[in-house]
Amino acid sequence: RNHKRHTTCRNDINMLNAPLLALFESLIPSDEEKLKQKQLLTLLENLVCKEWPNARLFLYGSCANSFGFPKSDVDVCLQMDLGDVEKSEVLLKLAKIFESDNLQNVQALTRARVPIVKLMDPVTGISCDICINNVLAVVNTKLLHDYARIDIRLRQLAFIVKHWAKSRGVNATYQGTLSSYAYVLMCIHFLQQRRPSILPCLQRMQVTYYVTVEDVECAYFDQVEKLQNFGAQNRESVAQLVWAFFHYWAYCHDYANDVISVRTGSMISKRGKDWTRRVGNDRHLICIEDPFEVSHDLGRVVDKHSIRVLREEFERAAEIMQYDPNPCVTLFEPY
Ligand code: ATP
Ligand code: MG
Repeated sequence: RNHKRHTTCRNDINMLNAPLLALFESLIPSDEEKLKQKQLLTLLENLVCKEWPNARLFLYGSCANSFGFPKSDVDVCLQMDLGDVEKSEVLLKLAKIFESDNLQNVQALTRARVPIVKLMDPVTGISCDICINNVLAVVNTKLLHDYARIDIRLRQLAFIVKHWAKSRGVNATYQGTLSSYAYVLMCIHFLQQRRPSILPCLQRMQVTYYVTVEDVECAYFDQVEKLQNFGAQNRESVAQLVWAFFHYWAYCHDYANDVISVRTGSMISKRGKDWTRRVGNDRHLICIEDPFEVSHDLGRVVDKHSIRVLREEFERAAEIMQYDPNPCVTLFEPY
């Protein structure tokens, strides 16, 4: 930890700007890929509506939040009135319908934390997860999408961080590391914290969008086209931001006491949330508050072992940005 005090880089950080921007461009899905996703959604819509005419399909996750890679799965939420039918029953029925329409690898996971049907479309090669009535995920997808429209540097930073996390094997909740959703929240919070700030806190502004989902009130300012110049006072480049992001998580974040909160645009205390001790399997070793389900810590999957892995990866990334002769390659080397 002897680099703690280094706040300047030996690398001329701005030399990394062009290669990082080129990397970002290469990670954005093409219009063709977006079109394929739309086609798949239409196909599913037609199949579903034959059986349930009042059902509606929504995209969520990375194909709709603008942080998706070309190869990302398509996440679909089926919204319908279940009446007194069991969710698992509907999922099994869905699986049958998809199978008889020649969709591949159809699987109903009725006992997962979020029960889904998985499938692969042989025409486009796209894989897809379909869940039922997971409306909060649709709403938090919109929040991420709205933040992305305010300042392009959010997408640039988040694509690079996600690419790094996938390359380094620290983007798998079943292994105790963080979800893509968690990484994007970390990026939003980080840009809210810059001085001058690059992103506002939409949930602290006038409410222009409001829904209640299962007793959770989701309210924020969504007229983001009015915020196009919000971050203009801050001239930091994407290279500076990537470096500062890793530096923050390597050396500056107070893991023992702090929770990052996009909802408030600031840091809040673990003590205030009663996230100071382990309850069951939830440990709170790195705390990321969900913007709507505020009792939900996205870091709860991280355990004693994986917190070490994560922090070592943050330190590695920060050091590479500062000292490595070829950071844009080394940073993303497979683990
Ligand atoms: P990837 O490109 O890795 O597939 P993704 O954005 O689809 O990225 P996931 O982590 O697979 O990310 O999550 C899909 C969506 O599910 C998120 O965008 C979010 O809306 C929702 N989601 C995921 N995890 C949680 C969670 N723990 N709590 C609430 N919503 C979540
Ligand atoms: Mg996904």
